[in-house]
Amino acid sequence: MKNVLRNLLHYQDLLLKIRQLEHELTTYPESIEKLGRELKQHRIAVARAEEQLSENSKQKERKEEYLVLCKDNLEKFEQDLMEVTNQKEYSAVLKEIDSTKREIQETETTIITIMESSKELEIEYEKLKNTMIQLESTHNEAVSGFQENNQEKIAEKKKLEKEKRALEKDIPAPYMRKFNQIAAKRSGIAVSTVSGECCSACNMKIRPQMVNNMQRNPNELFICDNCQRILVLPEPDDNDS
Ligand SMILES: [Zn+2]
Repeated sequence: MKNVLRNLLHYQDLLLKIRQLEHELTTYPESIEKLGRELKQHRIAVARAEEQLSENSKQKERKEEYLVLCKDNLEKFEQDLMEVTNQKEYSAVLKEIDSTKREIQETETTIITIMESSKELEIEYEKLKNTMIQLESTHNEAVSGFQENNQEKIAEKKKLEKEKRALEKDIPAPYMRKFNQIAAKRSGIAVSTVSGECCSACNMKIRPQMVNNMQRNPNELFICDNCQRILVLPEPDDNDS
């Protein structure tokens, strides 16, 4: 008869592996999470630069319209200058011409400043956009790599679940109940091997009398006095079960 306790240990091993796979399947690795965060930051920065560039261009357009208006005015004033009839009128028009010329100069300077700022912004924007595109591609690659890995893991999980179901048939119900009871309280570890006369889960020494009894009754349940887990003796190397 196959050792029931050994089956229980194997069963526990399967459960833990399935649990780990489930965890891995539902969690992106930190490297991908980090890439995702960087990508998000770059997308925001690119959008912000785009907004600023569009704002600059609108501002430039407004200034250019104003410049046209000023130049029209200047032309009119220069026309007026030829039609003045006295010194007073002449001085007044001249004053308008001077102030319009100043206005034109200031507006032109502002337009140049906006253009320079846009030029710098454009360089920064291109840099950000290129990095964003690179990040996008790295992120996509990492995600599809993760999904490919997942396919292997999904297949592995299915295989383990099948094995688990088959094994369940080999474990008598009272053993299974006891196992589930302890596992629920001990984060899934209900079975512990005896290693060097100690419980490998809690490191407490096992009474020699108990070890003796375990050797004589290989299918009986023995519980660790300290951690209350089911104890299993290590398998001898020449075991032929
Ligand atoms: Zn123990």
